Amino acid sequence: MDFNLPEELQMLKQTVRRFVDQELIPNEMQSCEGNELKPEFRERWEKKAQDMGLWLLDVPEEYGGAGLGVLAKLVVWEEFARTVALPSRGEGITGPEIRPILYALNDEQKQRFFYPILRGEKRLCFAQTEPDAGSDPGSMKTRAVRRGDTYIVNGVKRFITAADRSDFAQLMVLTDPAKGSHGGISCLIVDMKSPGVSITAKYKTIMGDEPCEIVFEDCKVPVANLVGKEGEGFKLAQKWLGLGRLKHGARGLGVAERCIELGTRYAKQRVTFGKPLSERQAIQWKLADSFVELHAARLMVYHAAWKYDQGEDVRNEAYMAKLYADEMSFRVVDRVLQIHGGIGLTLDLPLAKWFVDQRSRLITEGAVEVMRMVIARHVLKQYN
Ligand SMILES: Cc1cc2nc3c(=O)[nH]c(=O)nc-3n(C[C@H](O)[C@H](O)[C@H](O)COP(=O)(O)OP(=O)(O)OC[C@H]3O[C@@H](n4cnc5c(N)ncnc54)[C@H](O)[C@@H]3O)c2cc1C
Repeated sequence: MDFNLPEELQMLKQTVRRFVDQELIPNEMQSCEGNELKPEFRERWEKKAQDMGLWLLDVPEEYGGAGLGVLAKLVVWEEFARTVALPSRGEGITGPEIRPILYALNDEQKQRFFYPILRGEKRLCFAQTEPDAGSDPGSMKTRAVRRGDTYIVNGVKRFITAADRSDFAQLMVLTDPAKGSHGGISCLIVDMKSPGVSITAKYKTIMGDEPCEIVFEDCKVPVANLVGKEGEGFKLAQKWLGLGRLKHGARGLGVAERCIELGTRYAKQRVTFGKPLSERQAIQWKLADSFVELHAARLMVYHAAWKYDQGEDVRNEAYMAKLYADEMSFRVVDRVLQIHGGIGLTLDLPLAKWFVDQRSRLITEGAVEVMRMVIARHVLKQYN
């Protein structure tokens, strides 16, 4: 058993850390306008990411990407999460996000959707959640009925990130209500300008994100836009969400690490009742607990990534990594914010932003209750 990161990943981690420390952190409180990176920073940092070989980080080499394994990607995501310089959801600085489902497209579909997205000319949103189907996507009602070579789509999708800025939606639809999530859900790529598609609401959230509601009313989608086979959509989407859960895990590590850095520095310099806070046991224990929990989370996340790279099924490891790292990072932010007293509540430090962002992650892309529910299923099966 070797717990060390391979040498090339240690170097990658150091390179990204230097960039984050020297470029991102010094600008982190002014680089974004709302939840969008300002154009001057985007241009500068995307160029840097290209120079560091991080462009198209997510994409295999055969498509011109960096071709990194999952462990390598997580190491990069972890380092980027040490700062609030970049939007916490949406586009980073390593090129367009290519959702794994796009690799399931056939050659003709790749020409229409994949390559324009890869070149940054078009954008894609992921539309699964509905007003009555969030944690339980199997209960979705958006229906696609086939008429010859067209699907007629009717339904409502809610809380869809960047739907208002996307050219296409990766839309999850019910094609066979009797089968539901067991072969009755399919994935269509829908042109957002199609007749019958309208954005009917934008929700303001405490994180600043404004996910949208999309209504589909007798919207005609060519059968040629079906991803994979009919009924395969749920399985394909779950595969992508699995990787997303590991990304959540990596984010939790980066956030917690920087919080411990900030908390330790502040505790050493802040004097109350004649002594630095760092000499008070009440403060030391907050830092010690955070350090222990970060270590445990890192072992979990790296192990899941390593297993993924061996081609093994990591569904359970991904559930555990997301659950533990999301909760851990929120606890650490909370403790470190407390160490900072009043200044922790100001917008001069990244803590307040993380407090809200990490809180939101206990709900999005798989709420913690749902993670526990699926882990419990595994436990009940494993032990008699
Ligand atoms: C900012 C933001 C961006 C989003 N972006 C997207 C996107 O791009 N695409 C997309 O498809 N969706 C997106 N979502 C939707 C998000 O994934 C859902 O909000 C999330 O899955 C939870 O679903 P829900 O809101 O319907 O809550 P519900 O499913 O109604 O759950 C409510 C609460 O009950 C708990 N709960 C549910 N079932 C159980 C159970 N069996 N046992 C115990 N507790 C349970 C949940 O954990 C939660 O705490 C986004 C949401 C937000 C807020």
